[in-house]
Amino acid sequence: MLQKKNTLGLYLHVPFCVAKCRYCDFYSAAAPKEVMARYVAALAKDMEGRAPMARGLTVDTVYIGGGTPTLLPPADIARLLDTVGQHYTLDPAPEVTVECNPQSFEAQIFEALLRAGVNRLSIGLQSANDRELMALGRPHDMAAFAATYRAAREAGFQNINVDLMFGIPHQTKESLQYTLNTVLAYAPEHISAYGLRVEEGTPFWQERNSLPIADEDTVADMQLLVAEVLGGAGFEHYEVSNYARAGYRSRHNMRYWLGTPYLGFGPAAHSYFGGVRHETPRDTAGYIRAVEAGDFSALQTNAHCITPHEAMEEYVMLRMRLFEGIDEKDFSARFGISFEGAFGDQERLIRGGFLTKKQGRIAFTEQGMYVSNAILAEWLDFKP
Ligand code: SF4
Repeated sequence: MLQKKNTLGLYLHVPFCVAKCRYCDFYSAAAPKEVMARYVAALAKDMEGRAPMARGLTVDTVYIGGGTPTLLPPADIARLLDTVGQHYTLDPAPEVTVECNPQSFEAQIFEALLRAGVNRLSIGLQSANDRELMALGRPHDMAAFAATYRAAREAGFQNINVDLMFGIPHQTKESLQYTLNTVLAYAPEHISAYGLRVEEGTPFWQERNSLPIADEDTVADMQLLVAEVLGGAGFEHYEVSNYARAGYRSRHNMRYWLGTPYLGFGPAAHSYFGGVRHETPRDTAGYIRAVEAGDFSALQTNAHCITPHEAMEEYVMLRMRLFEGIDEKDFSARFGISFEGAFGDQERLIRGGFLTKKQGRIAFTEQGMYVSNAILAEWLDFKP
């Protein structure tokens, strides 16, 4: 999928959640309403302040993620999107996504989001099995998902993603199959399915030796099962963890994998702009204070200029996550060396069924995608 030139994506981070899920290492926490209101004002001011950077670029994707953005009143989300409209050049048909967690939503909330310009919803479900949801510490059950999904459709959302997970405590191949079948019955346009990662600093990390998680081989089978079931249901498996109905790939997330620019706002938000990667410090109170004081330099820490060698490594790491892989001509034009020149002859992997080379593109096969870490480690010389 080609992206138009001179376009930009905006990522707005909302670092609030009702409670912390047991596996989560995203930057989010519970907060009182007054803090949320001050945060929204700070976010709007930050967006306004950095708008001159984006002159000459058209914003064609906006992604409001978190955390749980729908903890904010729809009027706050409308205010943030108004700020985008007032200070940035907005594409006439942008993709505007809001992440939401199942909770007791009224259809009016979704109607208000649609009126504000949101046209894509990403609902974090993870599993259709209440026991698994409870083990993850998710703040909802399957019934809350059903109500949320119905309210969103009734309001008129026509582009919905559902996030799922595999390899979670108590999950079996059978219960995963049940989750997939249940979700397919709702007919979302997009499904993301990530393997659980037990991250340091989370409650799951403390319990890592006793978590009732299936063994590695079974988890690998689960990943294959997801691809088989969703592929069989007509979804395009376009990225290692992402599946879409025709025409419904996530345009914003494609930016990350294609290495096209985006600006991130809020603590822990990442930006990639003008060849520089940057992460805003993970500190909501510090972020609000800095923006209120107009001290934008405090937000510009951790900037990193990408060296040509890093640019090549990133390009390979990110593009090979996509099943369309790498265009050899584009690779040579960018890096002044052929793919073969950089990484050697790939005949062995092609014969083994892990890679394909067709019409000038090198890509992982479905089988290759599941061992891609090992292959990339060999190419890029890192430990998998
Ligand atoms: S809802 Fe999402 S961001 Fe919030 S704690 Fe759970 S996993 Fe983390």
